[in-house]
Amino acid sequence: MAKFYCEYCGTSASSVSSLTAGNCLRHPNGPNKGKHKLYEGSEKSKYTCKYCGQSFSSLTSLTAGSCLRHPNGPNKGKHAPAL
Ligand SMILES: [Zn+2]
Ligand SMILES: [Zn+2]
Repeated sequence: MAKFYCEYCGTSASSVSSLTAGNCLRHPNGPNKGKHKLYEGSEKSKYTCKYCGQSFSSLTSLTAGSCLRHPNGPNKGKHAPAL
């Protein structure tokens, strides 16, 4: 079954509509300040941060870490997955 992932936190859901119905704990505007956002890339064995190039085994671990090359400033935001 296809799985849909949130780009901000790595939460997965079985449909886009159920994914985007939920509040996201790692939303860029703040915890629960917005909904999960669909990650539009494909499922991978490794995910790379589009800002700094660090790679992680899951979207959950990628989005858990602060990014030294975040556009808002070093550690001013989380890693974000490249598609
Ligand atoms: Zn989320
Ligand atoms: Zn990064």
